[in-house]
Order: sequence, then C-alpha cells, then structure tokens
Amino acid sequence: PSLEDTLLSAIRNIPDYPKPGIMFRDITTLLGNARAFRRAIDELVQPYAGSKIDKIAGIEARGFILGGAIAHQLSAGFIPIRKKGKLPHETVRVAYSLEYGLDEMEMHKDAVEAGEKVILVDDLIATGGTAEAAVKLLRQMGADIVASCFVIDLPDLGGRARLDNLDVPVRTLVSFP
Ligand code: IMP
Repeated sequence: PSLEDTLLSAIRNIPDYPKPGIMFRDITTLLGNARAFRRAIDELVQPYAGSKIDKIAGIEARGFILGGAIAHQLSAGFIPIRKKGKLPHETVRVAYSLEYGLDEMEMHKDAVEAGEKVILVDDLIATGGTAEAAVKLLRQMGADIVASCFVIDLPDLGGRARLDNLDVPVRTLVSFP
C-alpha cells in the first residue's frame, strides 16, 4: 500500500471529540502500528537525512513521541516544549490560543543555543497557533528553525499559511479537508 493509504488507515477518526462537531484525528493507533509508525518517521526525516540538524523540538505530548524518534534517526538532541508549570529549570513562556481554548507553553532557556538548527515537530497542524507559539519560544533563544513537521494537516484551518508567514517551511504527510 502507498504511504498515504498506510497512514490514513492507521489514523483513527473520533467524531464529536473533544466537543460536538469536532472530528478528532487520533494518532495513537498509528503509533501502535509498527509499520505505520516507522514509515511515518522515515518519511518525515527523509529530506533532512545527511544534513546537520542540532535539535528536534517536540510539542507536548504527541510531539514528544514523534520528535524523540526523529531526533534519534537524525542523531539530534531533543527539546521538550511543555504546558506551563511542568519544566523544572528557568524557562521562557508564551501565551497562545488553540483550537479549543487558551493556554501557555514553556521551554527551558538553556534548551537551545543561538544559531542551532532546529526542526519543530507535532502530530497535527490545524490553525497553526500552537506551532507559532513554539516558533516564538525557539526564536527568542536564537534558534535557526529549519523546518516544521507534522503527520497530519487540516489545511482548511490555515496553519500552513501561518507558518509560511513566519518563514518556517512546513512538512506534512496526510491531510483531511
Ligand atoms: P492548532 O494550534 O490549531 O494548529 O492545533 C494543533 C494542536 O492541537 C496540536 O498540538 C495538536 O496535537 C492538537 N490538535 C488539534 N486538533 C487535533 C486532532 O484532531 N487530533 C489530534 N490533535 C489535535
């Protein structure tokens, strides 16, 4: 089967979650499928194989799982970007609005050095608000954001355009209209 078919059939669709009218795209089934998980990671890293990437920044929580696998594959370090109050050392913090409300996220100040090449990772891009906030944190510490990677794109919500405006290239594997 094609990569797209493999991934599409491994993603579970949950109607009316977390609220009525929302179709939630659940990647836990993809993560539990060894072949689909490997193919997704291989495909996401493929353009960067052989290039020097210093760090992968993963957005809590599903971005940790994908980002950890990508970091290993690219021999890069890993940066956790977390919900506020979870990181134990000095942080930078940013407020952002997401599809289902408002929140704040944080990153350790010493997680990245100025000029380091970083790839940002999450499971899904919708409005792009979450990824934009992560871009702000990374750039505040001087990171050079080479790209952002997501398994799923919800193109109607405009996230890709939002990151384009920030000059962050966006790589996604499947999209749901
Ligand atoms: P955005 O900020 O609007 O782009 O929303 C993306 C963030 O919300 C990511 O951290 C996703 O994990 C999460 N998210 C939004 N919709 C879904 C979904 O249908 N499935 C899984 N995660 C989602």
